[in-house]
Amino acid sequence: MLNKTLMAADPEVYRLIEKETERQNQNAEMIASENFASKAVMEAMGTTLTNKYAEGLPGKRYYGGCKFVDVVEDLARDRAKSLFGADWVNVQPHSGAQANAAVYLAMMKPGDKLLGFDLSHGGHLTHGSPVNFSGILYEAHFYGVEKETGRLDMNKIRDKAKAVKPRMISIGASAYTRDFDYEAFRDIADEVGAFLWMDMAHTAGLIAAKQLNNPLPWAHVVTTTTHKTLRGPRGGMILIGRDTENTLGVVAPKSGRVKNWGEVLDGAVFPGTQGGPLMHVIAAKAVAFGEALQPDFVTYQQQVIKNAQAMGRVLTELGYELVSGGTDNHLLLIDLRNKNVTGKDAENLLGRAEITVNKNMVPFDTQSPFVTSGIRVGAPAMTTRGMKEPEFEYLARLLDKAISKPTDEAVHDSVAAEVKALCERFPLYDFISI
Ligand SMILES: *Cc1c(COP(=O)(O)O)cnc(C)c1O
Repeated sequence: MLNKTLMAADPEVYRLIEKETERQNQNAEMIASENFASKAVMEAMGTTLTNKYAEGLPGKRYYGGCKFVDVVEDLARDRAKSLFGADWVNVQPHSGAQANAAVYLAMMKPGDKLLGFDLSHGGHLTHGSPVNFSGILYEAHFYGVEKETGRLDMNKIRDKAKAVKPRMISIGASAYTRDFDYEAFRDIADEVGAFLWMDMAHTAGLIAAKQLNNPLPWAHVVTTTTHKTLRGPRGGMILIGRDTENTLGVVAPKSGRVKNWGEVLDGAVFPGTQGGPLMHVIAAKAVAFGEALQPDFVTYQQQVIKNAQAMGRVLTELGYELVSGGTDNHLLLIDLRNKNVTGKDAENLLGRAEITVNKNMVPFDTQSPFVTSGIRVGAPAMTTRGMKEPEFEYLARLLDKAISKPTDEAVHDSVAAEVKALCERFPLYDFISI
């Protein structure tokens, strides 16, 4: 993959990429939002398609010379549609946040109300954070999990929705370990006259493999990233289950015809929030969706859940408190308050021991977002390397060793050596160590 042209042309950058590849190969990558894309996906990204301007959509471009990239984009769209059971899809968003920006532009006017998942309970910045455009341009209100259960209570969400009367309700999170009841959310949205938007950035791969509920039959619009559990290139996507006439009255300029939701959202991506699409990344999305349509992708996603649950069981035995008591998906949220260590310190201790996680707020956290009381641990990346329950149980014990001996450098050195030995048994890419 790393080829000799780059080594000769720019040894400085070449060397850094090589070092980063070694780093990825030699540590336990347990950041829940990360994964390892296949060589085929990466190869598609490093191609001539990066040279092409293709503003517009297949068959309706603002530039000539699009006959091949049109087919590429159609392939990506068709594969995404069959993967999720969608009527309509746009594969052009450069990232998850860009996909979400297009949804806001299509569905809301500045000042309109959003009801979203509380950020400190697992929600995402783009669901109304005061430092993000979503909280700056729109009036954000939040629902959250119950203190006793760590889970959502649909009756409380209904009450909140009735009180707020939002224009849009968002579902989706970066640190929630349970599945969502989309039908109940749609009921609430219909009752208060709101749009329902699901952001499945974290769980798209699990949903594609039918290991979690599919939101497409219930949400008006669904967004995702393509690089988390879906294991594709870094990017975003928007989908609609059943594409119907929009209720905002947006009409086609010439004919006066009422546009479908898909057309409204296409316009919100380009020209609404983006310029030219990244055709090399769209090619890589097509490759990744092709991989996700294969039977072994289902086996992979099943293993992701088994691994997260195996790790959760051992951590519970070791006295760790898991928010919501466990997990239905690919991640664990660990409340470290009974272990007398902050999320920030745990992240650093684990980093020294070559286990990469991120500090994370837990619901009703008593620490600031820079310190936090928890860590988030995810199974997708190490499962891609081929690890199964025994390795995840072992990783749980290593994690505990590193955290419970905060000042013992010898312990951290020995854990780091054990992690390295484990990683060597599960090589990441065969082009490593060139
Ligand atoms: C990761 C994530 C995003 C943002 O994706 P980027 O590609 O980093 O912009 C949006 N929403 C949720 C729920 C996420 O987890």
